[in-house]
Amino acid sequence: MAVHFQNTYSRSLEPFIPLDPAGKTVRMYTCGPTVYNYAHIGNFRAYVFEDLLQRHLEARGYDVLRVMNLTDVDDKTIRGSRAAGKRLHDFTQIYKDAFFQDLDTLRIKRAQHFPAATEPQYIERMIAMIGDLVAKGIAYQAEDRSVYFRLSKFPDYGKLAHLNLDELRPSGRISSDEYEKESVGDFALWKAWDEVDGDVKWESSWGPGRPGWHIECSAMATALLGPELDIHCGGVDNIFPHHEAEIAQSECCTGKKFVRTWLHCAHLMVEGQKMSKSLGNFYTLRDLLEKGWTGREIRYALLTVNYRLPLNFTIAGLEGARASLARIDEWVTRLAERSAGLPEPTPLTSHAEKFFAALDDDLNISGAMGHLFDLIRESNRALDDGALATAQAATLSQSWARLNGVLGLEREAAAIPPEVTTLVEARQQARAARDWKGSDELRDSIARLGWTVKDTKEGPKLTPLAG
Ligand code: AMP
Ligand code: ZN
Repeated sequence: MAVHFQNTYSRSLEPFIPLDPAGKTVRMYTCGPTVYNYAHIGNFRAYVFEDLLQRHLEARGYDVLRVMNLTDVDDKTIRGSRAAGKRLHDFTQIYKDAFFQDLDTLRIKRAQHFPAATEPQYIERMIAMIGDLVAKGIAYQAEDRSVYFRLSKFPDYGKLAHLNLDELRPSGRISSDEYEKESVGDFALWKAWDEVDGDVKWESSWGPGRPGWHIECSAMATALLGPELDIHCGGVDNIFPHHEAEIAQSECCTGKKFVRTWLHCAHLMVEGQKMSKSLGNFYTLRDLLEKGWTGREIRYALLTVNYRLPLNFTIAGLEGARASLARIDEWVTRLAERSAGLPEPTPLTSHAEKFFAALDDDLNISGAMGHLFDLIRESNRALDDGALATAQAATLSQSWARLNGVLGLEREAAAIPPEVTTLVEARQQARAARDWKGSDELRDSIARLGWTVKDTKEGPKLTPLAG
């Protein structure tokens, strides 16, 4: 089975075929963080899912060209910077830096581009897109000087969310104080400057103001990936109105179908509620690190629940992650010990093939992990019985390396003690002098200090023994 995804747009499982005629490059856009605070682990559920998606596509031979935006201007960032008495840029920089650190802690691969909404070339593009929509009669400036998207001009609005939006399209003009737009559903493309915005403003032909959140993504996505994307992701809360609005704006500007495959992850929940900043029921990554959990354990807990299922976040879940990782580590070490000296890559075993096949099926990670643990159980049994040949152990070690390329769950490299380094150097000298007996004795001494040494083309490699 080739890679398949459950497309939010069609609500069906579809084979994945990128637009690239060579079938190689995948253009992928993921809505990134609003940088007014530390991201919470609910946000990171979305980013870890997108990381798994990218890694699996790469494992299947695709080149993933990925863009993740940073929303560094909106109501929340402006409010936060004023409360902190900082300029917007200085305020958001703190959380941009923190975000990149957190990505590393969770081993999330970097996108090729992390465009920030306030970068001049993107502001320019947002203004140009809004101008285009106004020229086409699809957008209008209202009495409050803001510019709105005229929803009645885009009949497909609501198709992604599968909503009946008739109630959002009243025929007459709404004269309530609250709405200066023509219709309740019309959303802002350009927000006219207001006193509370302080010095945050850009000039435009509609007067000073700033872009709306939705147009930020349309502009950055099309600037870096072109008018047609293969995959666009986010959490389910982004479907409406954000992604609907992105579709409406982008398609009215380019005349092309904006996105072929929409993928949305379900929420990370705490006691039955979505983890969110506004509910105050959130943990940041830093909170959990302070409590002694590692980035790897948190990654495991976020990664191993299928993305379309809600993930109930609990400390017991983190304890389970810790236990599962210990089981994997012990297995990896046993394999390394058994396979020492056989560096040549060998084909994947059938369990490993099943692992990748499960991921082909709409990233069925829980199925994939099931195959990994079957593999661990069976090979541990063979190791216990002394029935695993050295060559088989080497094959399995290679399989693990492939699986781990997608999982990103390898053990942190332990610091190598200086006495071990000295023994390894002595062993290299013994080998150079063809003193095989001396070399073997040194190998044993290294093992007594808790390390296995393996000879590879790049030189000796050390692995800590399970303990
Ligand atoms: P935000 O910074 O609120 O714009 O959110 C950034 C990303 O995190 C978006 O893709 C959201 O859909 C996603 N997100 C926010 N809260 C959660 C949650 N509790 N579970 C999963 N994803 C979330
Ligand atoms: Zn977005």
